[in-house]
Amino acid sequence: TITKAAFKTDNSQRIFKEAQDLLPGGVNSPVRAFKSVGGQPIVFDRVKGPYAFDVDGNKYVDYVGSWGPAICGHANDQVNAALIKQLEKGTSFGAPCELENTLAKMVIDRVPSVEMVRFCNSGTEACLSVLRVMRAHTGREKIIKFEGCYHGHADPFLVQAGSGVMTLGLPDSPGVPKGATGTTLCASYNDIESVKKIFAENKDEIAGVILEPVVGNSGFIVPDKSFLEGLRTECDANGALLCFDEVMTGFRVDKGCAQAYFGVTPDLTTMGKVIGGGLPVGAYGGKREIMEIVAPAGPMYQAGTLSGNPLAMTAGIETLNILSQPGAYEEMDRKTKTLIEGILKAGKDNGHAVCGGNIRGMFGFFFCEGPVKSFQDATKSDLDKFGRWHRGMLERGVYLAPSQYEAGFTGMQHSDEDIAYTIKMANEVMATL
Ligand code: PMP
Repeated sequence: TITKAAFKTDNSQRIFKEAQDLLPGGVNSPVRAFKSVGGQPIVFDRVKGPYAFDVDGNKYVDYVGSWGPAICGHANDQVNAALIKQLEKGTSFGAPCELENTLAKMVIDRVPSVEMVRFCNSGTEACLSVLRVMRAHTGREKIIKFEGCYHGHADPFLVQAGSGVMTLGLPDSPGVPKGATGTTLCASYNDIESVKKIFAENKDEIAGVILEPVVGNSGFIVPDKSFLEGLRTECDANGALLCFDEVMTGFRVDKGCAQAYFGVTPDLTTMGKVIGGGLPVGAYGGKREIMEIVAPAGPMYQAGTLSGNPLAMTAGIETLNILSQPGAYEEMDRKTKTLIEGILKAGKDNGHAVCGGNIRGMFGFFFCEGPVKSFQDATKSDLDKFGRWHRGMLERGVYLAPSQYEAGFTGMQHSDEDIAYTIKMANEVMATL
């Protein structure tokens, strides 16, 4: 049960003040600093199930879920038990272990495009490695990405890269050489004509197209199925590879990722977040004939000291096991739908322009008239209102992503009571904006 005590932040303020002297901006990843919503983040003490508890004793219903991994609830008992057992046997081998086969088989079994997989340690690593695969396989250098899509912080992807960069108002990061982004071409999401144009202007030069199959890094944006199908057709017609970056959507919108949900199969897929169950894991995979270019099967180099470590593999295996329970995604969809419809109604009832939606355990909304189909549309949202909304919810025990340009996440452990509480608070806050 959520009980609302007086909201205090003394300890969070003290700890974050010290952190600012120790870590750049006080954090180890920018969006955590709450810059776009007022600048005073909450310092966590512990997490359990759908809840986060801060260092001042405040309890929150958490819709960030460590930015995606906590889909079975934080510190899930089944995942924890398996981790404790593995801990006794060692945390890192730097040698083959059977757990890698187990998780690989689970991924290959579930994800339509994946016949072979390589594990690494983050989504960023997965994306920069898959880029190398696309280039090595095709012998071409140019790639197409989309405005507002984020694929980690490797140089070639830091072009119109969505949330983290946008929230800070950075156009592109300094330190990224022109040479690194000169081969990155940007198209508009849900606009197949913009993709056709780039293909036409760069005949036989495009190695591949990479996208978030549902966008989470410009806020929550759903693709038109015809757009995804169009990308498949264009890539095939031009000898280019299609890569779905499923770091966020993987095992979140469907057991078989967004590609199963929409019925469009890419050549390559990147994964992260859920697949590591809260430990650092990334992965990329695809057709066997493409993946066999990766060393030591083939000449394309990519490696990692901690890659495939037994602790991370264990968390991934248990998380995917839990998600295999019958009805897991249907239940998440039902609860998340109730949540987002409740928030949208609270907004409309209080005279605000709002639009949004969900797919399974991924949701989001904007403070503007819909539909939002692209990054350009997303920039119409009222950011000042979002900031006040965010703070109001935080003070009432609801932890939402501290940026308009991030998606929200629910998990299997959010209860109907948690959702009802959140909607009640949404009504209170919307009335104050
Ligand atoms: N791709 C997408 C779609 C993401 O959402 C993210 C992280 N939010 C990444 C890649 C990078 O993953 P990581 O933060 O694990 O490096």
